[in-house]
Amino acid sequence: MAYIISDECISCGACADNCPVDAISEGDGKYVIDAEKCISCGACADTCPVSAPSEA
Ligand code: SF4
Ligand code: SF4
Repeated sequence: MAYIISDECISCGACADNCPVDAISEGDGKYVIDAEKCISCGACADTCPVSAPSEA
C-alpha cells in the first residue's frame, strides 16, 4: 500500500526532500506520490506541516 497526498497539501516541498526513494514530485496544485516507488515508510506524513500524506 502506498501513501497518498490529500488536497490539504500546500506544496511546501518538505516531504519530497525527505522521501528515501524519491517517490514524491510536484503536481498540479499539490505534490503527488508515485505508488510504484513508495515503500510506505511514513516519513512524508511525519514531515508534513498540514498532515496531507496518509496511507491509502
Ligand atoms: Fe516516500 Fe515514505 Fe512517503 Fe512513501 S511513505 S512517499 S516512501 S516518504
Ligand atoms: Fe504538501 Fe505536506 Fe508535502 Fe508540503 S510536506 S508538499 S504540504 S504533502
